[in-house]
Amino acid sequence: MTSTNDSPAPVRVSLREGLLLGELYNISSVRLAGCKCADCGETSLGERLICPNCGQSDVSTVALGNVGTLWSFTVIRHRPPGDYRGPTPFAPFGLGLVELTEGLRVLSPIDVDVDALEIGLPLRFHPYVRHDPEKDVVAFSYVPNLGATLDV
Ligand SMILES: [Zn+2]
Repeated sequence: MTSTNDSPAPVRVSLREGLLLGELYNISSVRLAGCKCADCGETSLGERLICPNCGQSDVSTVALGNVGTLWSFTVIRHRPPGDYRGPTPFAPFGLGLVELTEGLRVLSPIDVDVDALEIGLPLRFHPYVRHDPEKDVVAFSYVPNLGATLDV
């Protein structure tokens, strides 16, 4: 009798190259990657070779903080076309701009009941593994940061 333990673990990849830092097989270590510029001080999303703000190359990769606040949002009420891999049957979800402590805003699904979406909602980074047919993909959303105070 075979069990699923006999099959090799699926390959695990990042949602996008250069977007995540940490060990993909240790999900709690995963962070959003940022690019910090020594010239202008700008922090931008993802690993980069040059600063998208000033074009200089004196940049370093940093792990972005895990908390932010909901800056703006919309509710996706219709199943997106193409290879959408959310729950079946489709359930409406929030898509928001999360303002991080570093000052940049990140577009992300907001994993909370859509009726609970509110500008200023405290959020925290939530990496998770999505099981696609041929590989596991490390993706992320933001979830309410319980215990934090509403910052409006
Ligand atoms: Zn710069």
